[in-house]
Amino acid sequence: DVPLVITDLAKNYANGFRAVDGVSFRVETGQVLGLLGPNGAGKTTTLRMLMGLITPSAGSIRVFGHAVTPGAPVLSRLGSFVEGSGFLPHLSGRDNLELYWRATGRPLADAHLEEALDIADLGRSVDRKVKSYSQGMRQRLAIAQAMLGLPDLMVLDEPTNGLDPPQIRTMRDVLIRYARTGRTVLVSSHLLAEVEQTCTHVVVMNKGVVVSAGTVEDLIGAS
Ligand code: ADP
Ligand code: ADP
Repeated sequence: DVPLVITDLAKNYANGFRAVDGVSFRVETGQVLGLLGPNGAGKTTTLRMLMGLITPSAGSIRVFGHAVTPGAPVLSRLGSFVEGSGFLPHLSGRDNLELYWRATGRPLADAHLEEALDIADLGRSVDRKVKSYSQGMRQRLAIAQAMLGLPDLMVLDEPTNGLDPPQIRTMRDVLIRYARTGRTVLVSSHLLAEVEQTCTHVVVMNKGVVVSAGTVEDLIGAS
């Protein structure tokens, strides 16, 4: 099954604003797909529908062939991170992840925890208190959290917000390494340079619609 198929998706917020206006795209296995667009394009709204956090006004979302409906998100194969993931500052990174995972009620293999931590490249800092972490370390911990169950499809909303260029390069390596394990990544960004460096494929959104889609080479060649 295809990791993600979005068809004619739309969202009108309660105030009548149409933030997403008929969006269709798909993400294939092994891709790191960047959802690129300026602030207000509708990226977060799209990702929140995909995660089952808000209800679409129209259209469909299929994750590995299963329809996503609010309250019944496809959690078993989906891992996600939305900016601002709250960590407990007085606990270590490792303890934060264990606590988070315990709340899901699902079993966690030690090997999976170690792999997520390894992919996020936190080194020995994983046993230091989160309050001592830099912004970049917190972001990578949030990504490790999204990776915990080794989801087949990982969804990250603006994971590089607040990171400096070296941290963005580390993030890129993390995402590429993850996709090479045969899994799939969907990441939103408002920075073309970042998508160019990080992603294999790109869907460009503006004002609630998809304006182009293809490989990163296609996008760069066309501009
Ligand atoms: P839904 O249609 O999904 O129920 P709502 O319109 O009720 O969403 O708003 C959900 C939340 O988003 C509310 O807390 C609201 O204050 C906030 N919100 C409202 N307008 C905006 C906006 N323009 N941008 C971002 N957040 C907004
Ligand atoms: P992006 O992630 O691309 O910046 P968003 O999906 O956050 O875009 O927002 C798309 C548009 O929808 C923006 O104009 C935003 O102000 C508006 N919006 C977001 N949330 C709400 C809400 N709850 N109610 C009304 N408008 C919203």
